[in-house]
Amino acid sequence: MATQKPVSESNETFDNNVSETVVPVSDNTNRLQESIDLLASLVAFDTTSSNSNLQLIEFVGDYLQQQGLNSRLTYNQAGNKANLWVTIGPDIEGGVVLSGHTDVVPVTGQVWSSDPFTMDNRDGKLYGRGTADMKGFVACALAHSAYYKSLALKIPLHFAFSYDEEVGCIGVGGLIRDVTENLPIPRAVIVGEPTGMNIIGGNKGGRNFNTIVNGIDGHSSLPELGANAIIAATRIINKLVEMQERLKAESDPDNGFTPPYTTLDLGLISGGTASNIIPARCEFAWGFRGLPSEDVDALEAEVRSFIDQEVLPELQAISSATSIVTELMCDVPALIPDETSAAEQLVRHLSCLNSSGRVCYGTEAGLFQKAGISGVIFGPGNIEQAHLPDEFVTIQQMQKCCNFLTRLGDWAASSTDTRV
Ligand SMILES: [Zn+2]
Repeated sequence: MATQKPVSESNETFDNNVSETVVPVSDNTNRLQESIDLLASLVAFDTTSSNSNLQLIEFVGDYLQQQGLNSRLTYNQAGNKANLWVTIGPDIEGGVVLSGHTDVVPVTGQVWSSDPFTMDNRDGKLYGRGTADMKGFVACALAHSAYYKSLALKIPLHFAFSYDEEVGCIGVGGLIRDVTENLPIPRAVIVGEPTGMNIIGGNKGGRNFNTIVNGIDGHSSLPELGANAIIAATRIINKLVEMQERLKAESDPDNGFTPPYTTLDLGLISGGTASNIIPARCEFAWGFRGLPSEDVDALEAEVRSFIDQEVLPELQAISSATSIVTELMCDVPALIPDETSAAEQLVRHLSCLNSSGRVCYGTEAGLFQKAGISGVIFGPGNIEQAHLPDEFVTIQQMQKCCNFLTRLGDWAASSTDTRV
């Protein structure tokens, strides 16, 4: 059990390496070692988003079962991927969720110094795919399950481990639905994406589309007889670039985001078969990374109406067989900053940090917030190492995360504040 002073008496910050003397944490040396061992096990499952994550989920479920904790799974339609939810403590509202995704980005085309799916400990850095993003956090949480179980918690702590985060936060929706429809509602979620153990209170959202322009092919010497799909696509792309310039000009430079405006994603295009054939097809992927204050519905409507009123009629004038199809690929809501939220207040209190930052990548936190569960992003490792070859998390970051999670358990065992 904890013998620590109340954290409110301290002025510790997690950025201060000697700070642990200010707020004693109950001894968690064994849990740090356990989290490193668990991380090695988790990294060994190749849970690239295109693969099933069921072996990892089974491993985690078995691990929790050994402590008498029963997991709750929600599956994808194909039944080859699952989210895992577990509750430690009483079956009541007002709990705190530790959220992590189990999938990782591919290593295809990357040159690694060691096998990406065999964790390698070199000079205090734990290398491997997913160590920072974000199996390190999942391992630290799991390593605390036995401790939490032993504490007779007054406030429940939950783990939420999802699939398919890296391909548009697709998996966690089923878990959130299950929780909000069937279980006591938690007060807060801590999404353990790699923030260097700094609090991130807001992130941009992401809405992405795939547009296919179907024109009419023909010999390039007779352009009037065809409908050039690439030219039609470039008209739409020019519109997107114009919108990007407008959004940039209208932005508030002091909103905490870098860059401080809604940005355009345009990363993939293909079309045509030869330089002397009028292309019948052009396909491109695009989207917006929207500020929390952005009306992304309005941006989408503006693009769709430009396509319908300006571009499509020109193709249709040539042939009624032409078309432009725009499909929504993913829609991740932004995390709206709220410094007074239960999540941010709790993490500030337990970490003794007194500010929060903003990031421009999407996370699952916005989906939880939309479902009425306040969220912050707070986890070990650095986003700069995520998705790259030789991804790593330092043992020091794992230690900081374990210290935080130990304090969280001690708080949940002693707090009488069960408000949602
Ligand atoms: Zn991630």
